[in-house]
Amino acid sequence: MAIERIVNTQNNNDEQNEELLDLSLRPRTFADYIGQERIKTNLQLAIKAAKKRSEPIDHVLLYGPPGLGKTTLATVIANEMGSQIRVTSGAAIDRAADLASLLTNLQDGDILFIDEIHRLNRSVEEVLYSAMEDYAIDIMLGKGPTAKSLRLDLPKFTLIGATTRTGALAAPLRDRFGHIHRLEFYEPSEIAKVVERSSGILGTSIHSEAADKLSTRSRLTPRIANRLLKRVRDYADVNGDGIIDTVIADKALKLLEIDNLGLDNTDRLLINSIIDNHQGGPVGLNTLAAILGDEATTIEDFIEPYLLQIGMLERTPRGRKVTSKAYAHVGKTPK
Ligand code: ADP
Repeated sequence: MAIERIVNTQNNNDEQNEELLDLSLRPRTFADYIGQERIKTNLQLAIKAAKKRSEPIDHVLLYGPPGLGKTTLATVIANEMGSQIRVTSGAAIDRAADLASLLTNLQDGDILFIDEIHRLNRSVEEVLYSAMEDYAIDIMLGKGPTAKSLRLDLPKFTLIGATTRTGALAAPLRDRFGHIHRLEFYEPSEIAKVVERSSGILGTSIHSEAADKLSTRSRLTPRIANRLLKRVRDYADVNGDGIIDTVIADKALKLLEIDNLGLDNTDRLLINSIIDNHQGGPVGLNTLAAILGDEATTIEDFIEPYLLQIGMLERTPRGRKVTSKAYAHVGKTPK
């Protein structure tokens, strides 16, 4: 059973409408891209230098929890370079031949964005090595003793890879990226800016205290901020005059069962189960997965990063432990 969560960082747009809205909310330039200042400064410099030399920028690896703006940043880079971007995902490239066909269809200066790059299989990864390093790939024609290898030159492209887990990336692949950036959780003030910017695009009026409120409930993640804003906007349209003030925001968040730290039922279930059934931990990831009826990777990618960030959970070699802050949050005392 997969858990359907409003605070989900997964991009599970089921409605076309929702998808279009998301596209319109996506920043296209560095000026619109809020926060991540250090990364922006570095990339802006790299882009300026590359443009001056009329070369593509070096390959870029972006990593960090989902919903923090990796895909968005890739499209901003393409836009600022004036390049075309091709978007694909590690899970979608099954065979080396699929990658070869993607690469040979690129043009000089194009950007290839591979989301979830840790999901590429080894044989595909190996093709990528020479493509990244030499702008060439070797393809095998035929099979057995008569097989011949043919070297194909590729256009000078930039690979932008995104991953939630660098640990899962083979070192030879990681080493071939010239720029490696970890996206951090945002400051609440930055998330408030995301909320205000998105409200402007959606044509929704929101009081600044209400934007502040949403910013503390969004798990420091722009994707969730936008998602909450849309749900609160629905509530304001149905139960009020469409204007989002703190009263409307509070009521909508209560209905969504999102508490003052942005935790939802799933988070609270996780914390309570570790306290009630495992004396606060440590508990192995697989046990947690069984408790929530979800995959271990979902917990690692989507639930745990924020709980670790705000100090509710601790990772130990023997598993996950809740902290005193978590006990206090669910109104329990350690035994
Ligand atoms: P990721 O690829 O890391 O999962 P996305 O790039 O898809 O995350 O970002 C999710 C959504 O959050 C985007 O559609 C965009 O509207 C919004 N977003 C992300 N980063 C920013 C940012 N820095 N400023 C404003 N909005 C952002």
